[in-house]
Amino acid sequence: MNGIEKLFYRFRKAGSGLFTYDCALCGKPVRGKCLCENCGKNLFPARNEESGKAAAYYYEGAPKAVVLKRKFYGGEYCMDALVDWLTEAYSHFDGIKFDFAVPVPAFGGGKNFAYKLAKEFSLLEDIPFEPSVLRKIRKTNKQHKISMAERKTNLIDAFEADEKAKGKTILLIDDIITTGSTAYECSKALIKSGAARVCVLTVLKSAYDK
Ligand SMILES: [Zn+2]
Repeated sequence: MNGIEKLFYRFRKAGSGLFTYDCALCGKPVRGKCLCENCGKNLFPARNEESGKAAAYYYEGAPKAVVLKRKFYGGEYCMDALVDWLTEAYSHFDGIKFDFAVPVPAFGGGKNFAYKLAKEFSLLEDIPFEPSVLRKIRKTNKQHKISMAERKTNLIDAFEADEKAKGKTILLIDDIITTGSTAYECSKALIKSGAARVCVLTVLKSAYDK
């Protein structure tokens, strides 16, 4: 993140308290937040039993409402809450020193939501942000729009990592983990390029995974 980006980030962070939003879940107006006090209690912390994976909440209730509303509004809506949630989940990896934070990439190198999340998160946690380590090398269908059988093969070898991954401990970041195939294929590419370890950090995880 360069100097101008850091300045913009601080400016946005300071300014976000001035705007009034509709609470993502009940619609009540709230200042500087995307959930009112009451709905902010309607969160379902995710259990994180696997050592290499962590998510803050399940994709239901208030967190689901926030993610859906963010898709609708786009831009900076709820960015602070989502980055805070990512930070909560990150505490699961206490004691691991990451060399890079890498977002799950979009085909063509576009700045998808995972990219924006990972960038702000890595600035706050002081982890080097290295999106160029991982690329998506072919177009794939959206996982939720295809059959279960197609999902199994849709993402195979869709990602490629470069030699910067060699010997590194990498934190892979995405907004939601559903079937886990995206995270699996990304990790596979990073390990193939010599990464020492890959951990997966997401804001939310599928409620079916409970
Ligand atoms: Zn509310």
